Amino acid sequence: MASVSFRNVEKNFGKFKVIHGISFDITDGEFVVLVGPSGCGKSTLLRMLAGLEPISAGQIGIDETVINDLDAKDRDIAMVFQSYALYPHMTVRDNMGFSLKLRKADKEVTAARVADAARVLNLDALLDRYPRELSGGQRQRVAMGRAIVRDPKVFLFDEPLSNLDAKLRVAMRAEIKALHQRLKTTTVYVTHDQIEAMTMADRIVVMHDGIVEQIGTPLELFDRPGNLFVAQFIGSPA
Ligand code: ADP
Ligand code: MG
Repeated sequence: MASVSFRNVEKNFGKFKVIHGISFDITDGEFVVLVGPSGCGKSTLLRMLAGLEPISAGQIGIDETVINDLDAKDRDIAMVFQSYALYPHMTVRDNMGFSLKLRKADKEVTAARVADAARVLNLDALLDRYPRELSGGQRQRVAMGRAIVRDPKVFLFDEPLSNLDAKLRVAMRAEIKALHQRLKTTTVYVTHDQIEAMTMADRIVVMHDGIVEQIGTPLELFDRPGNLFVAQFIGSPA
């Protein structure tokens, strides 16, 4: 587990500034949801934390260590993508073990980690199947399994449920929360869906046009929205 800090983090794409000096902290084991309209900079902030995008100014830290210059592969962070990012030509077992194989982990260690993750995610019976042989929810669990096997300090989710139907989305929210209760891994979860944010977050970070409008628990944001943007965003139907 780990704490995460953003200090005056900025991002420019060419001459366009898309993140304007964002600062906040995430505590060990917390489930933080970044929410805001499409284009406000959620994915960019997450990708900078993952090391997939260089930051233009400021500092990002994990456990008091500044990680700005650390390669993505050396950050102890795993990102969960939408389930269509699974490797279609690999079984569930190989999909889940692939990141360890890349890191040249011992074969037996990999097998044991995959078995553990499969147990946690209820995938034991599906390990020899291919992604095309799975339902949408099962595929999303495999996508999570790929992240879990690495036992990272931090999990990042970028709109992982947006290609699932409404009913499954609700079920998967509960599964992801249950997983977090069990593993207690520090998690940053991105969504543009305020209902998802309100139901899943320990704390919500409301973003708008590259800045943070407000940070608080779901109840705090609901009871005391800091400005009109937050009030309208949180209060509007999904
Ligand atoms: P969100 O995830 O909240 O929808 P993004 O972080 O994807 O928003 O994008 C924030 C802004 O940065 C948008 O205006 C987007 O067009 C821009 N942007 C994102 N990635 C790039 C890129 N690689 N090059 C140029 N502009 C980008
Ligand atoms: Mg995005």
